[in-house]
Amino acid sequence: STGTPQSPGSSTDGEESTVELLGGLDIETTADIEVPDRLIDQVIGQDRARDVVLKAAQQRRHVMMIGTPGTGKSMLAKAMSQLLPREELRDVLVSHNPNDGNRPTIRTVPAGEGQAIIEQHRVEARKRGQLRTMVMWLVLVAILAYAFLVAGEPLLGVLAAVVVFYIFRVSGRTQRASVPKILVSNADRHVAPFEDATGAHAGALLGDVRHDPYQSGGLATPSHDRVEAGAIHKASNGVLFVDEINTLGVRSQQKLMTAIQEGEFSITGQSEQSSGAMVKTDPVPTDFVMIAAGNMDAMGNMHPALRSRIKGYGYEVYMDDTIEDTPETRRKYARFVAQEVENDGRLPHFEADAVAEIVLEARRRAGRKGHLTLAFRNLGGLVRVAGDIARDEGAPVTTRAHVLAAKRRARSIEQQLADEYIERRKDYDLSLVEGSVVGRVNGLAVMGEDSGIVLPVIAEVTQSQGAGGVIATGGLQEVATEAVQNVSAVVKKYASVDLDEMDVHVQFVGAGAGGVDGDSASVTVATAVVSALEAIPVDQSVAMTGSLSVRGDVLPVGGVTYKIEAAAKAGLETIVIPAANEQDVLVESEYRDRVRIVPVSHISEVLDVALVDAVEKESLLDRLSSYAPGPGRDRNRG
Ligand code: ADP
Repeated sequence: STGTPQSPGSSTDGEESTVELLGGLDIETTADIEVPDRLIDQVIGQDRARDVVLKAAQQRRHVMMIGTPGTGKSMLAKAMSQLLPREELRDVLVSHNPNDGNRPTIRTVPAGEGQAIIEQHRVEARKRGQLRTMVMWLVLVAILAYAFLVAGEPLLGVLAAVVVFYIFRVSGRTQRASVPKILVSNADRHVAPFEDATGAHAGALLGDVRHDPYQSGGLATPSHDRVEAGAIHKASNGVLFVDEINTLGVRSQQKLMTAIQEGEFSITGQSEQSSGAMVKTDPVPTDFVMIAAGNMDAMGNMHPALRSRIKGYGYEVYMDDTIEDTPETRRKYARFVAQEVENDGRLPHFEADAVAEIVLEARRRAGRKGHLTLAFRNLGGLVRVAGDIARDEGAPVTTRAHVLAAKRRARSIEQQLADEYIERRKDYDLSLVEGSVVGRVNGLAVMGEDSGIVLPVIAEVTQSQGAGGVIATGGLQEVATEAVQNVSAVVKKYASVDLDEMDVHVQFVGAGAGGVDGDSASVTVATAVVSALEAIPVDQSVAMTGSLSVRGDVLPVGGVTYKIEAAAKAGLETIVIPAANEQDVLVESEYRDRVRIVPVSHISEVLDVALVDAVEKESLLDRLSSYAPGPGRDRNRG
């Protein structure tokens, strides 16, 4: 049915009942849904990663997770900590080393015993302290009595008393140094530790020894008292999670590697100028399971040795972005809403219709037919905003209306920017949505991840004085050059002109706003160039997106749904999209009736829709058809 205008999404959302959207779940609100206790059972989708985590927990292996943010990496890491045995947990104590004050000693005891040991030391120290104080006062009284009553030297007596007092004070400090400090306490843990060291600086990751401003004169804080554990120590016998692993400094990555290799790591002051740098403890256990995470780029920038370390002693797993849309998964999405409500603790439960709306949104955000998005952090954001709105209203349950209101409110920064951008363009009259103009085409682009914008392209073709070339503005030179190259192959076939000998000027109106992805603009550029070359005006109520091959085929692009919505918002009426993207279209109902979607597979079809009817157009399409019979083209031309 290529070439036939149709309303998008007519076969998907809209007609399904709430019960269907909930995968047959018959509930009143999410309060009726049972939420599993274990975090691993709360994870939706990600079957591969789940299996890996279950296996890795049993074998105590490291895991590398690569994927989109908000798909459950840290959730799985935390879930893994719940799967590790608690029995092995220990407290770590650091104490003064009488032989070398800068080499504190480390001792581990079964979890929960650390505090008792400290108490014991404190009591002893207090007893000793009391004894000392008593002795001190006795000595002071004796000195003063002797000085005043026997020797008759009161001044000398007071002086002697002060000196003795000071000596007692100073040696008292050394006494206190005998009380160890708890470096890592696992006393109150019911599960193995989970430490998130994402973005941690060296001290927080590897431990640190605080600086002591009073290093001399007996006022010094004993060095062991200044020792602080790092995430690698706190995570021992548990899970160390590091997201965005590539942003960790090279030095930190190297040290992390040592900790993994040795299973222990001494603590020293991280700042070289600090007195803490002189202190180095005995090795402290770092027997953790590492879960490193990141997006695809992270792999490239990660220290290769660290990666091979994890790979050699563990698993690598790629996170899914979407999951197949089946009744079973939809039931899980209902459970997801229940989970988020329960975890938040303050949101009113969602009624069935509201859950159905979340499922629809998950479908829409998947950008892929028959799938639901697994970007749960953002979806959870929507759940919370909707729940907040309901709570502010004092509503007993969160309704579908609350979810719809939340969708309007919970717009990403990119979407807000795009809105602002559309507004501003209207002010400056950059957008043109009616009439016809030669060489000007309303293209569509994506901004950020989830916002479409209208990106008009203006082309002008002039006979070159020299070699000819493509001159583009708006920072999209590469895109323009490639598009012109591809269209020139098509042009060569039907016309005697060689675009290579012409100067082609391409202007992306208003691009350079940053973050605009012009990759899918090649059909737009090609249309503008042909229009300019043939002097046939382009219908300005038409918008388009698509990638062009050298043969003139229109290839699929990303973000079609967002682009269509942007076009509809801007007031455009006809939207040309690649036929291969037809199934990705999940436009919200409010836009659905405003626009006509035309799926195409060849540039000739694009031109047929976009160029205004004229004798020149007929002749152009005739010449085109003789060389490239695109599918459905004949019917299009009527
Ligand atoms: P990542 O670490 O991949 O960036 P998180 O694990 O921090 O993402 O996910 C953020 C939140 O989103 C989680 O706390 C959880 O509430 C929800 N979430 C993410 N992925 C899933 C999933 N696969 N199943 C259920 N909830 C999820």
